[in-house]
Amino acid sequence: MNVDIKSIAYAFVSQDVNVYFPDGNEECFVIEKLVCLECDTFWHTSLLECYFCGELNYYLYECENCKTKYSITNSAQSCSNCNKEKTLLKSCINEKCPTNTHKKLKEIAKKEGGIFDFKSSLNLSLMYCIDCGCSANQYKTFRIFVYNDEFETNISDFLKRIETYLNINDIIIFKKHNGILKYNFQKINNLSIKLPNQYIYKEISELVNNILKS
Ligand SMILES: [Zn+2]
Ligand SMILES: [Zn+2]
Ligand SMILES: [Zn+2]
Repeated sequence: MNVDIKSIAYAFVSQDVNVYFPDGNEECFVIEKLVCLECDTFWHTSLLECYFCGELNYYLYECENCKTKYSITNSAQSCSNCNKEKTLLKSCINEKCPTNTHKKLKEIAKKEGGIFDFKSSLNLSLMYCIDCGCSANQYKTFRIFVYNDEFETNISDFLKRIETYLNINDIIIFKKHNGILKYNFQKINNLSIKLPNQYIYKEISELVNNILKS
C-alpha cells in the first residue's frame, strides 16, 4: 500500500469518517459518512437529544435548586453555589422543555437523574440534522485517489497509472508542498483532469467537509 494513501486515509479516520481499502487496488481508498439528506452536514450518531423537545446533550449538570450549570467532568456531588446536596441533574437545558415546566414530567426526569443521565431512558440518538433540522440522512461514499506533488513527476504519468480504475464521481485529492501543506480536490465528471490553479484547503477538516458536500 502506498504510504501517502495511508496517511491521508488516517487523516479521514481522524475526522470520524469510515475508511475502507478495496481489494486489488492500491491506488485508492473508499470513504463513507452518514450526512444530512438536505444539507450534507455530518450526522453524529453518538449525539443524544431530549425525547421531549429535541434539545441536544451539552454534557452539563444543572443544580435543580439554583440552576447553576457544571461541566460533566466535575465529579462533585453537591452544588458549590447554593451548597445543597444531591441537586445536580443532567437536565435538558431548554427552559421551555416540558421536563422543566411540567410538574409531573419534571419529577419523572429527576428520578432518572435528568434527561441525559447515562441510565435515563428519556433521550434518543440524533433524530434531526443539527444544522437544518431535516429528519432524513444518507450515507455518502467516494473513492479517493491522491496526487502528491512530492512523489509524482507529472499529472499525465499519474493519470496513466490510475486511468484503468478511475470512474465518474471518484475524487482526486491534490497535495501541494510549498513550505506548508495545502490541498485541493477534483470530482471526476469527465475526463479533463488537470492540476488545480489554487490549493485552497489548509486543514484536513475543511477538505473532508467539502468533499462530502460535493
Ligand atoms: Zn428537553
Ligand atoms: Zn445550587
Ligand atoms: Zn441538514
